[in-house]
Amino acid sequence: MEFRGKRILVVGLAKSGLSAINVLYKRGAVLSACDSKSTEEIAKNTLELKDLDIKIYAGCYPEIGRGDYDLLVVSPGVPLQAAPVTQAFKAGIPVIGEVELAYLLKAKAVDLYAITGTNGKTTTTSLLQFIMAADGRKSYSGGNIGVPLTALLDQIDEGVIAVEMSSFQLDTTIEFRPHICGLLNITPDHLDRHGSMDAYIRAKAKIFARQDSTDYAVFNFEDAHLRKMLALCPAQTVLFSTEQILKEGAFVEDDMITVLLKGKRQPICPVEELLLRGKHNMENILCATLMAFIAGVPPEIIRRALLSFKGVRHRMEEVAVHNGITYINDSKATNPESVMRALESFSEPIILIAGGRNKGSQFNMLAQSIKERVKELILLGEAKQEIRTAVIELGFKNIHEVEDLRTAVLEACKLAEKGDVVMLSPACASWDMFANYEQRGDLFCSTVRAMIQE
Ligand code: ADP
Repeated sequence: MEFRGKRILVVGLAKSGLSAINVLYKRGAVLSACDSKSTEEIAKNTLELKDLDIKIYAGCYPEIGRGDYDLLVVSPGVPLQAAPVTQAFKAGIPVIGEVELAYLLKAKAVDLYAITGTNGKTTTTSLLQFIMAADGRKSYSGGNIGVPLTALLDQIDEGVIAVEMSSFQLDTTIEFRPHICGLLNITPDHLDRHGSMDAYIRAKAKIFARQDSTDYAVFNFEDAHLRKMLALCPAQTVLFSTEQILKEGAFVEDDMITVLLKGKRQPICPVEELLLRGKHNMENILCATLMAFIAGVPPEIIRRALLSFKGVRHRMEEVAVHNGITYINDSKATNPESVMRALESFSEPIILIAGGRNKGSQFNMLAQSIKERVKELILLGEAKQEIRTAVIELGFKNIHEVEDLRTAVLEACKLAEKGDVVMLSPACASWDMFANYEQRGDLFCSTVRAMIQE
């Protein structure tokens, strides 16, 4: 697509917006940019742009009418209900996301393997790239993970990218077509932004919308929402299951990760030798294994990669084992579903630190898991009353409310006994008390380490 001379408005001036601006500027677009945050709030980001000839609107949006722009590029953080987006739709101006823009820049010799799901995207994307790298391929990861896809595709002209795709990013794709895609699971999340479960599912389905019968889509057969989507998928569908042996696809058979395709059964790796814990991680492993297998990576290479993959920070990350107590940082567990998976991954008694900003979730299912698996529950943040009410309804009483994360860790350490697991797995976003989940996880880790040294 030719961008020279095109009048383009970039909506959102954070990481992906800035990356979009850079690639479009280089290609001669006539750029404007806007952000709902004030000039002061985005000062750091706009500094980068100070020498570029760009009109910037901060703390306000430009009014958009017919013919004002040729294209809008929106960041994944911008809701589609935001004024510039709805006005552009009305005025017949095309609206795309930063990932779609990246796709339009993609060189032919770059292959995209995209992954989506409510939980497990980052783990699976990282693992897939890890396997590709183990096979000696020029491999990268991008999208919702690490560098924005526009920046990456601007720089490379061959290789393979494992692309993590959030529902927000998928929402604003049009032509985006990965050669292989993987769908992990769909449970309620981000409903505050998508409006309904149907809209959330529709966004996820866009990952395969442009594929054809020469492409592949890998589905988790155990997810009821995903099973319903199979019939809509134009690509060759391949299944994986953590529960049963399938006629075709990837599964666990006799404690061995196995791929069975076109009648050929291929053992890959014994389950007991894997470093990642939990059934949910088995979903991620089966998905990445199947995608790599379809991409032609030899089984022996996949096996070697699986045996050395230690996981990603802030996802059930083991921080320390001290006096027989294991400390786990699962700060990335920002919805109830992922906390339930974390709780299921340990047979030891658990002291759980949870709470933060609720993203529109119900806590009653989680409350049941807490009742079954948690010894002491330490609550903090905006959602503490909601979680408290849900567990009390089930008769769970071992609740401790605290004001901040440091106090939560101190309290957990006081309560913990040899053989226990102390785990931060909040079921909520971090934004009520932190800039992001990484900051929350880092504080948990540093507090734990400081406590241990005392
Ligand atoms: P995402 O990128 O989709 O948010 P991550 O790999 O970052 O996924 O994991 C987010 C959280 O979900 C972590 O707490 C992790 O332990 C948990 N998790 C990872 N994989 C799964 C899965 N397949 N199903 C449910 N929860 C998962």
